[in-house]
Amino acid sequence: MKDNKRRGFIKNTLLAGASMPLLGMSQSIEQKEKKVTPFKINTSANPKKIVVGGAGMGGLCTAYELMRLGHDVTVLEASGRHGGHVFTVHDGLSDGLYGDGGQEHITKPGYELYWKYIDEFGLTVLPYERRKNLLRSIGGKFYTQEMLHDPSVLKGMGFNQREIDHLTVHPWGELKWLYIDSYLDKFEDEYQPFGIGYDDFDEVPMVEIYKKEGASPRALELLGGKNSSALFELWYSAILKKRGVANFPLDVYHLKGGNQMLPDAFAKRLGPRVWLNHRITSIENGKNKVNVTYVRNNETNTIEADYYVNCIPPPAFKKIPVSPAISAEKQYALDSVAYDSYQRFVFQASSEFWLEDGLDHINMNFEHPDLWSVWQSADEVDTHRVIVLGTGPGGISPQRALAAFREVYPGKKDTIEQALGRDWTKQKYAPTCERLAFPMGELKKIWPLLIEPEGRIHFAGAYADNLNWGTEAATRSANRVAKEIDEA
Ligand SMILES: Cc1cc2nc3c(=O)[nH]c(=O)nc-3n(C[C@H](O)[C@H](O)[C@H](O)COP(=O)(O)OP(=O)(O)OC[C@H]3O[C@@H](n4cnc5c(N)ncnc54)[C@H](O)[C@@H]3O)c2cc1C
Repeated sequence: MKDNKRRGFIKNTLLAGASMPLLGMSQSIEQKEKKVTPFKINTSANPKKIVVGGAGMGGLCTAYELMRLGHDVTVLEASGRHGGHVFTVHDGLSDGLYGDGGQEHITKPGYELYWKYIDEFGLTVLPYERRKNLLRSIGGKFYTQEMLHDPSVLKGMGFNQREIDHLTVHPWGELKWLYIDSYLDKFEDEYQPFGIGYDDFDEVPMVEIYKKEGASPRALELLGGKNSSALFELWYSAILKKRGVANFPLDVYHLKGGNQMLPDAFAKRLGPRVWLNHRITSIENGKNKVNVTYVRNNETNTIEADYYVNCIPPPAFKKIPVSPAISAEKQYALDSVAYDSYQRFVFQASSEFWLEDGLDHINMNFEHPDLWSVWQSADEVDTHRVIVLGTGPGGISPQRALAAFREVYPGKKDTIEQALGRDWTKQKYAPTCERLAFPMGELKKIWPLLIEPEGRIHFAGAYADNLNWGTEAATRSANRVAKEIDEA
């Protein structure tokens, strides 16, 4: 009986998927013969020596731009690999399969600089259908995209008529626009949220704006915002609007072969300028020079430079003593950057088992505490095997996440052969994931101080930009700082 019910559900799911061509469909990016742009290092009229801390996307991109401008750069990286939170897992997987353990995707529009580097390095981008026909578990029941846009289903869930009209034609991830769109056009400069008449909103929780605009209790549950600054949230959405990006873009992309192809390309061009296993242990922020001390194999050395660029996330940077001490205000801004942290699971299966179960995709969101979502990846690899990626909490084994999958997966014929995990909460030098929203009353104390230089120390990386979209923020802040130092 239970199985029959499941089959009925799965059949409906398949039909629903087939009838929703516009929702979540990835647009295709034309694949052309890729050419690598010739690479040239310019001569600077005023060459400087710069030490960059951290060989993640932020550090590699900053160093690459400074090198191109004719400066002498050295990147010090504590771990034995470059890439930081961009990390493609190959080890332990069969048939040339891979899984992105960190950065998942990029969008278009959005990520303008990232796309520029893709062209420059001749990398190949693939549409990532991870949000196509996403099945969502809500209150213990699975909903297809068709169901989530059905007025009678929406009514039954408790949305008001305005919300129902909106959600019938817009993705769920765009519900907030219904209540905030009219606020956004006042933000003119995307790096300046203050002075446009909204300063007081920093003290107001975002949920109050939704309430004022008439959101139903059901919508409030979905939209959240009880603790985040309304000014921060409005500014965040205004940045997306300016860049022409949806709040939850359905069309997303990844690099063929794994997202680590981009940090690899930066690192290749930087060559011996990237020093792995060189952990920064202290910084002297002098008037005319900066001294950066590092440890390698228990040996301590110091490099004297004109500038230090910090591309180490603030929680790890805080462990590095700086003298004279960073100003109390700047330190407060750095200390206020809060992160989430979680785990990526990589399941390898011997077939697209969900097809046998009558599903056309394995894109699912769950409510299980040990596994929050799954989707297919690396499907361009020529093998019958497949990779299913998942996200869940740190501190649990991949086998436990697999057991959770088997508990909640609505089919029954999975062919998963092995489960691996990348637990970011346990990474020695990179235990954070993505920057969180700023709480109420904090934005005015943090911004723009967070991204401003302090003496000879500049700040770049995913934490040091206006929007917290990781690799987009890393490339933007890297270019900002490279320009600042070049022009200094
Ligand atoms: C699971 C997950 C999913 C994500 N999904 C996306 C996504 O879809 N799209 C997106 O754009 N972004 C995504 N991100 C975020 C993105 O990957 C990161 O924001 C970005 O890669 C951070 O780059 P970074 O250079 O600022 O910092 P990091 O990558 O953290 O690099 C900092 C480096 O500093 C090193 N370091 C630390 N301490 C020291 C020291 N004392 N001395 C020297 N080096 C040190 C670290 O080892 C690390 O290599 C995701 C991240 C994770 C973890």
